[in-house]
Amino acid sequence: MNPYLDDELQALAGHVRRFATERVAPGFQERDRTRTLDRALAREMGTLGFIAPELPESFGGQGLPSLAAGVIHEEIARADLSLSYINLLASLNAQILSAHGEPAVVRPWLARMLAGEALVAIALTEPRGGSDAANLRLRVERAGGHYVINGEKTSISAADQADAVVVFGRTGTPESGAHGVTALLVPTDLPGLTRSRFDCHGQRAIGRGSLFFENVRVPADHRLGAENKGFVQVMQGFDFSRALIGLQVLAVARAALDETWSYVTQREAFGQPLAAFQGVSHPLAAFDTQLEAARLLCLQALWLKDRGLPHSAEAAMCKWWAPKLAYDTVHQCLLSHGHGGYDRGPMEQRLRDLLGFQIGDGTEQIMKTIIARSRAGRHAVPA
Ligand SMILES: Cc1cc2nc3c(=O)[nH]c(=O)nc-3n(C[C@H](O)[C@H](O)[C@H](O)COP(=O)(O)OP(=O)(O)OC[C@H]3O[C@@H](n4cnc5c(N)ncnc54)[C@H](O)[C@@H]3O)c2cc1C
Repeated sequence: MNPYLDDELQALAGHVRRFATERVAPGFQERDRTRTLDRALAREMGTLGFIAPELPESFGGQGLPSLAAGVIHEEIARADLSLSYINLLASLNAQILSAHGEPAVVRPWLARMLAGEALVAIALTEPRGGSDAANLRLRVERAGGHYVINGEKTSISAADQADAVVVFGRTGTPESGAHGVTALLVPTDLPGLTRSRFDCHGQRAIGRGSLFFENVRVPADHRLGAENKGFVQVMQGFDFSRALIGLQVLAVARAALDETWSYVTQREAFGQPLAAFQGVSHPLAAFDTQLEAARLLCLQALWLKDRGLPHSAEAAMCKWWAPKLAYDTVHQCLLSHGHGGYDRGPMEQRLRDLLGFQIGDGTEQIMKTIIARSRAGRHAVPA
């Protein structure tokens, strides 16, 4: 029983888990080794309605609650966190495109995203830094019916695999801060746009990389939101992705912990199952308690979103707590497996995959600043 998940959502979770177990889990390690995302699996998820199901029917979605996206993210991530980026990027960007895009431009992209045929990345971070996001430098200038982009974005998930990117650039003066930023939908096949890929510690199927813009001309109707208002309007979408990330990483930790309970029940030392030693079972019991609590917090954030209620602080709580808790849990699970946990395999891969989410989409310090501002006010917590 779960107060946030009714019978329909529980049934959806079961349906997605069967798919994830049969289709996603078997290639988990292979995709990490070969660094391939497997776009065929994305199309299968699209056919089954697992991508951005919360998008309103008027935009081609199913109009399901955000909680439905939450349970799908959990089940796909449980099988492969890196692959579940397909769901995450789609939910984040579908919300941005449908709320702020020119319908004639974004509708075909939304249709392809929901079908699993198009992958859309999001590019905010620059070589100068990511935490002070409003201080971005990528230059965007209006030239007749186009915007011309020059500069670099870096550390972008799926940079070299995306078909389009939501790009934030500066249209205002260098001092204009958050009020001089414009967001654009940029197809990645435009002339002047080149890409690189990093050799990442984890999340290797999706990967990260840089985008280099040299006089890239984007039609003006590809703007998202008003000119100079991109940061203020479009950034709202991140509350959604922060709660979803919480559920994704907790699902990975839950899978690891379930396996570990089973392992410590069977493996013996000193003539007893490992679980008999409180030094083994109590740390696992403590993590189990915290996983349950953190999951409820994430579901609550989505529940608030579904009711149109404020949830920025709750989403920030999910984003700093869940990735750290999930990492610490899997670390403990790996240790409980002894040398076998350290070998190349699911445990060490989970640990590598999880670490990135303590940084990506905003660090712990930035999330705590958001929470502190919501409690004490922006004047008391300026940065
Ligand atoms: C796996 C992964 C995926 C990512 N995907 C994307 C993506 O798809 N799109 C995208 O745009 N970016 C992406 N990023 C980049 C990410 O958003 C940034 O790395 C992040 O915002 C931090 O920026 P930074 O790395 O430049 O660190 P910095 O901003 O240089 O910060 C370095 C350290 O200083 C701390 N710090 C900075 N300012 C303060 C402050 N005021 N108070 C206290 N501490 C502070 C930070 O918390 C951090 O620990 C991804 C990163 C990772 C690791």
